[in-house]
Amino acid sequence: MHGYSGKILHIDLTDRKTWVESKPEEWYRTYIGGVSMASRLCWENIEPGCDPLSPGNPICIANGLFAGTPVPVGGKYGMASKSPLTGFIGDSLSSSWFTVALKRARWDGIIIHGASEDWVNVLIDDDKIEFRDGSHLLGMSTSDTEYAIREELGDDQVRSAVIGPAGENLSRIANVSNDGRKAGRTGHGAVWGAKKLKALSVRGTNGVQVADPEALLKLSYDITEAAQGPHTQKYRILGTSSNVLNMNKLGLLPTHNYQEGVFEDAELISGEYLHEHYKAKTIACAQCPIACEQVGHIKEGPYGEAMGHVEYESLFALSSNCGVNDMEAAIKAIVNCNELGMDTMSTGVTISWAMECYQRGIFTAEDFECERYPEGFEASFGSGTAMVRLTEMIADRDGYMGDLLAEGTKRASARLDEERGTESYQWAMHIKGLEAPGYDARSLKTFAVGLAAGTRGGCHNRSAAYDPDIKGDVDRFSVDETRGELAKSTEEYAAVYDTLPLCKFIRRCFTGKADRAGAWPAIAQLINATTGWEFDYDDVDLIGERAHAIKKAFNIREGWTREDDHLPYRWHHEPMSKGASAGHVVTDEELEYLKDLYYEAKGWTKEGLIPKQKLVELGMADVAEEIGV
Ligand code: SF4
Repeated sequence: MHGYSGKILHIDLTDRKTWVESKPEEWYRTYIGGVSMASRLCWENIEPGCDPLSPGNPICIANGLFAGTPVPVGGKYGMASKSPLTGFIGDSLSSSWFTVALKRARWDGIIIHGASEDWVNVLIDDDKIEFRDGSHLLGMSTSDTEYAIREELGDDQVRSAVIGPAGENLSRIANVSNDGRKAGRTGHGAVWGAKKLKALSVRGTNGVQVADPEALLKLSYDITEAAQGPHTQKYRILGTSSNVLNMNKLGLLPTHNYQEGVFEDAELISGEYLHEHYKAKTIACAQCPIACEQVGHIKEGPYGEAMGHVEYESLFALSSNCGVNDMEAAIKAIVNCNELGMDTMSTGVTISWAMECYQRGIFTAEDFECERYPEGFEASFGSGTAMVRLTEMIADRDGYMGDLLAEGTKRASARLDEERGTESYQWAMHIKGLEAPGYDARSLKTFAVGLAAGTRGGCHNRSAAYDPDIKGDVDRFSVDETRGELAKSTEEYAAVYDTLPLCKFIRRCFTGKADRAGAWPAIAQLINATTGWEFDYDDVDLIGERAHAIKKAFNIREGWTREDDHLPYRWHHEPMSKGASAGHVVTDEELEYLKDLYYEAKGWTKEGLIPKQKLVELGMADVAEEIGV
């Protein structure tokens, strides 16, 4: 096979043994790589029904088809496990040099089983696997851990995926970090922590064999050239933070824990403001000619020096949603999350939930007492100090509040409501347990069903159904019979990119249009030059449907029901009072209607289950046997 090594590595941390598995070529053609292959590996290797923090939940990594090749923005990989936040599939993407090293070590996938007795750093040195002591790395930040391992091995080509203190302390909002990039959102860091896996390091020294190197180089050159033109200008100059002012104008910028969609100080937390006052440089993932990462730098002041990349989703969560108009506090909080190993979005949304509890008088300063701050402190909306302090407390589970918020919004709210008889679930902003993204869905009715039905929970990246709403292709304030098909189409479109994986910011660089007609023929050419296969438009299109089907199948086997496709209470019951999206909610009837439309478009039953025949058609007969109806 070209483009793949044909080898999948199993690592058992309990017994400290490894073995190699081979898969038939048809399996690779069905699952390709990235989130799809990682989810399939999870399907095959998990103990169904297991506790996500138990040894029965494997960590599954699937490399990208284009990692280590000249294909621009193809240096990405997928990671999947059962999410400790949602109890369903947790599929994440990350990128950069770790995935290139893995490709050069000639592994298509890694499955990490069991749990170690002692903290461990697993080193994959081409085909040699070493279980190294990881205990001296405990407590280190993510970047310090990566650096320490390179120093220890005396090799700056070794690349490591690591957890920070948050993962060590089993925070359910912890992530996994490599090369400054994150496998984020669904709590992988806690799964690693439960296995006492501090780091997975890779040294790869082989080349990557592709079917037609000349053709691949030519195709890659053309896309690289286009990627430096107008289609990516927004990302290259301001990055995704340019969304702040756009979302504010549309009344969609989450503010004060989604109480409103307009933030009066939006200018002060905008990409433009960052660019003018704090931008130090722009950086890129490996294999990327776009370089969207805008690095913000604060040199001094109340938060000391801090430097890290700032993008929209981190920014909304750790500024407007906490009512904070101070870019320095936002940068510091984002850097804390990155270095302590926590998801910025989940952290910010969970903190904003706590701030609303404080606003309502449920929490007082005493509730914030901890080892660091024995007197406690006030945690009002707008307090950058409280926001930054809470990021540190969550990573260490410091005090009552650090421990509570480390559980994520859903569990923190349930625990509080049980302990104090409150109704904080009404402002707990999560879907399936995953904190909501930076687009208020009350007036994005297509996105509303995309989010509700998302296999991963509250994720804008997997759904992408905000696109037709925001672009004005449909009336975003109302529902109609087209929305099921639209939500299906945008979700499967996104899944193609997440499976190869290719960064979605390249999507306009094939023909100038971000649609299937423009991209799929070019992507088929890239696949064919890499693998020697003969993919066409329809084959590429099927990648997305298959990727989504295996994730949905995983969820069904874990006990998913129609009721799990929900939205936060607030979006159903509380309209916003200000701005261009004021006055709207998604009614229960609307959501149920949208779910009907969506399930029908997917070819599923009214209960949202997948017919056997559908799975067989997708090449998943074995999955059909287990969960098909
Ligand atoms: S565009 Fe940004 S996120 Fe995408 S590959 Fe490049 S640097 Fe990474």
